[in-house]
Amino acid sequence: MATDPVTMDKLVSLAKRRGFVFQSSEIYGGISSSYDYGHYGVLLKNNVKGLWWRAMLQERDDIVALDSAIIQHPQTWVASGHLAGFTDPLVDCRTCKLRFRADHLDVSACGRKPSKHPGETPDCDLTEARDFNLMFETTVGAVKEEGSTVYLRPETAQGIFLNFKNYLQFSRKKPPFGIAQIGKSFRNEITPGNFIFRTREFEQMEMEFFVPPPEAQQWFEHWLTQRRDWYLRLGIRADHLRLRPHAEDELSHYSSATSDVEYLFPIGWQELEGVANRGDFDLTQHAKHSGQKLEYVDTASGERYVPHVVEPAAGADRAMLAFLVDAYDEDEIGGEARTVLRLHPQLAPVKVAVLPLVRKDGQPELAQKIHHDLRERMQTEIDSSGAIGRRYRRQDEIGTPWAVTVDHQSLEDETVTIRDRDSLEQQRVPIAQLADELESRLRQPWTSPKLLSA
Ligand code: ATP
Repeated sequence: MATDPVTMDKLVSLAKRRGFVFQSSEIYGGISSSYDYGHYGVLLKNNVKGLWWRAMLQERDDIVALDSAIIQHPQTWVASGHLAGFTDPLVDCRTCKLRFRADHLDVSACGRKPSKHPGETPDCDLTEARDFNLMFETTVGAVKEEGSTVYLRPETAQGIFLNFKNYLQFSRKKPPFGIAQIGKSFRNEITPGNFIFRTREFEQMEMEFFVPPPEAQQWFEHWLTQRRDWYLRLGIRADHLRLRPHAEDELSHYSSATSDVEYLFPIGWQELEGVANRGDFDLTQHAKHSGQKLEYVDTASGERYVPHVVEPAAGADRAMLAFLVDAYDEDEIGGEARTVLRLHPQLAPVKVAVLPLVRKDGQPELAQKIHHDLRERMQTEIDSSGAIGRRYRRQDEIGTPWAVTVDHQSLEDETVTIRDRDSLEQQRVPIAQLADELESRLRQPWTSPKLLSA
């Protein structure tokens, strides 16, 4: 069986070459672990987020949406426990002056050449570990005075708890129901790295599901299955995905159960998403610190209780990285090497590329017309320049599932061919049926063909 050709280096290089992700501030030498998303990166991440919203909102009746502020009242972080406890253990090396996460020493590289793990050489001089708070601090207002310190949110979840009362009032929902949000979070990670896997600024996709306390375990299991299946439906290979329950000593202070959805990256098994049973910790804490009642009252029975919370918390950037890694493939066509992103069509940044075979005889004009008609229904590109083989190759590298070729026959009988990125099959279809045909293909269940042909 062929081995998976993907490496982080190849992926980073493709991401830059094809305009998915760039090092941020590159003209100034770059800033570590900050990335800018280029055109295809924006389209891909939008699809990841769109498909998450779809699973949370469009396909269910029990979840509503929120977009809360990044800067919230500083008491939020006192109540949530982040100010006191959102820390990682930090060690300094007095010799090489670098800093490391004490619990990541075995995967960190020290400053010497050739690089070793910190603490491995007799010259390493590590300090004792101390707690380092990961929240970014800033000030609001023109004057730096007491009470002006605020924090960039390190997770989106707390914005949901702060709005729990609003949602009970306006949404006419009763537990079990959820509030979902996507947005940027910020963590001053001690050792960010591995491209967009761990950065200091990233997007989270979080949903807090409020349930009657006796139902918490059942909903925890429901969400674990739902979230694993979401990745599988979007084409992640089953042997590269697993659920890993947290051991007792790994659990957060608020959690009675957490399982991670993990993906087998080139750097090993890593967390993609955490699903946690948070109990009533957050609502109770915010009720205590705000003096507000954060509970559900059943108007019919008079029953009142603080709901328990089940939370699936995912990273949009990390999910995008997993989809890219899973999709990256290399093969040969007619003796020529090709790189191809075998992305699920629903994730692909561009669904269809319209390519006139030659730049004459009315083919570019017809291609233009087809492109205009198609783009009302899906993300489409037209590419007229260069040899057709090179244009196919370019679309393969950005993961476009179908290329529509306009040739001399198209002008005679109003048909075009659809070339499939993975099977390379060409099918001739009437132009009048093209959009319907592509939309029907987009809706089909999809399995990754990666390695199947090996
Ligand atoms: P880790 O153990 O990797 O630091 P975590 O357990 O602290 O992650 P959570 O607080 O559960 O992460 O956040 C939920 C999700 O947000 C993670 O599963 C991950 O996908 C994403 N995430 C967290 N931190 C980062 C980061 N620094 N960069 C990119 N994504 C992140």
